[in-house]
Amino acid sequence: MESMIWLDFGIFLVLFGLFFYVFAANSVTVLHKIYLVLHFVFMVWPLFQFISQTAIDPQYKLFYLIGAYVALSLLGVGWFVFIVVLTGQAKVIRKNRIILLSIPGVVSALAALANPGNLFLNINYGLDPNGQLENGPLYWMMIVQVLIYLFMSVFIMVYTLRKDVSSRHKTLVRTAMNTVFLLILFGIGDLLVNIVFIDSFNSYFPIISCGMAISTGYLAHAITKHRVFNIIQVVQRDIMNTMSTGIIVLDDNDVVIDINKAMRPIIRLRIGDKFNPGAIASQLPKSAARDFLKFFEEQHEKPLERLEVELALHLEQSSYIVIQSAPILNQHKKKLPIGRLLTFHDVTQLRILLDETNTQNELLHDRNRELMLMQEELSQVNKKLQNMAITDSLTGCYNRRYLLQQLEQEVAINVRKGIPFSIFLFDIDLFKSINDRFGHLAGDEVLCATVDAVRSMLRLTDVLARYGGEEFTVYLPHTNREHADLVADRIKEAVEHNVVRTGNGDQTVSVTISMGVVSIEQFDARVLEDPKAFLRELLSQADAALYEAKYNGRNRIVKRKLA
Ligand code: GH3
Ligand code: MG
Ligand code: MG
Repeated sequence: MESMIWLDFGIFLVLFGLFFYVFAANSVTVLHKIYLVLHFVFMVWPLFQFISQTAIDPQYKLFYLIGAYVALSLLGVGWFVFIVVLTGQAKVIRKNRIILLSIPGVVSALAALANPGNLFLNINYGLDPNGQLENGPLYWMMIVQVLIYLFMSVFIMVYTLRKDVSSRHKTLVRTAMNTVFLLILFGIGDLLVNIVFIDSFNSYFPIISCGMAISTGYLAHAITKHRVFNIIQVVQRDIMNTMSTGIIVLDDNDVVIDINKAMRPIIRLRIGDKFNPGAIASQLPKSAARDFLKFFEEQHEKPLERLEVELALHLEQSSYIVIQSAPILNQHKKKLPIGRLLTFHDVTQLRILLDETNTQNELLHDRNRELMLMQEELSQVNKKLQNMAITDSLTGCYNRRYLLQQLEQEVAINVRKGIPFSIFLFDIDLFKSINDRFGHLAGDEVLCATVDAVRSMLRLTDVLARYGGEEFTVYLPHTNREHADLVADRIKEAVEHNVVRTGNGDQTVSVTISMGVVSIEQFDARVLEDPKAFLRELLSQADAALYEAKYNGRNRIVKRKLA
């Protein structure tokens, strides 16, 4: 039957453990849990003291007394951890360090439990119902470690107060510090009254218990007053209210659970109001209202999706807002949204910036286009200049410089590849007399008409150039002697039969030409050593042939073989 006594106690422990578990498992913050442990420790001391005092059996008396001492041993470390978390030092003093720092407290509790060699309490003497228990050195070490923890807590609190923390935080820490001082004060009082000067006092007075009650009461008052346990919520609230993004939290019935300050200028809603998109839309400009309603219809159709819409609100000046809607999901049943988070983000500045960028972009685009046009014009002008540089302004055929340039390249290629080619040099016969008879302008007309007549007999690849005055050269690539003779004859005839009308068209003029023809069909690679000299030689041969044609009576062709 002896063991049955413990059943109740065991059940009490189980129930207490369950209570503890439910509370600890569901509370939001670490601070909750630590406070719970601390409060438990505070409770155990007076309860066990009381039971111990009321128990008759010295064995049980001792058991509960030891229980109370175990609680007392853990008081310091419990308090210390509570303060570490409360002051926000948990980041600095990490978990494993806290565990290390807890060792003295735990060891002390174990020492109280085991009471090795009666070093904690001298039981032999104390079991006498009328006798007092004598405290051993381990007891004093326990007291010292509790005090050390309390002083460490004070140190941390002072350190925190020196830092630049919010006034709310400071008030909290100060409250906790006052509590520690109270505890220390009462603890020392208890030590003096109940232990050190026990002989001067007749009866036991639970000073430390009173201290615990007063300090815990004070702490509990501060906790409720400052909503310490809502610290996370408070912080979240602060964050929410300082955010520029508007936030509305809705439950699954579209009732507003939370709404932040930034929402105020956008939508007037209070916690507990039903979120009614229709009513809100009626306050919006038409197009925005339509988009807004469509957005919420879509949200209802797809409750598990994240959606976004941008509305153009023209309240005072143009303003834009992006609304995002995201489901809040049940942690365990992910398919069941338990609410919805709506965020309203003012993107007016962004829009303005974007519009500005777009305008700038368009400007740049226009500039670019202008530049491209200018470039095009420039390139046209360049082409014209290039053309001007190689054409004869009067007749429009190539000039001498171009011809020579072209010939220099072509001749070398022709020689290297063995491609036959021919060169004509022709001069208008007795042109001076044309000038004399019809005037210089008419002479110019005749010159141009002759060029046209000659050109009509040539291929596109042939190069007709004004060699000087009324003297012209034709370079005929891929043209052997036979073919060249044919072309030369045709040219001569074309010019001869070309009747030019000058003045008002009542005067007709015809001219003839004399021509020297040089055709190259045999190639000597040695000429490549000095292509320029070879070219000079070619032209002088053509010139000699032309001279011969003139000499022999004009209006004729003299062909030359290259010597
Ligand atoms: P020939 O048969 O010996 O060639 O007799 P020619 O009169 O043509 O003699 P020459 O070659 O010495 O004279 C050429 C004349 O051509 C001289 C010059 O006044 C004229 N002439 C040269 N260039 C131009 C021009 O661009 N326009 C005009 N109208 N006359 C030109
Ligand atoms: Mg002439
Ligand atoms: Mg001449």
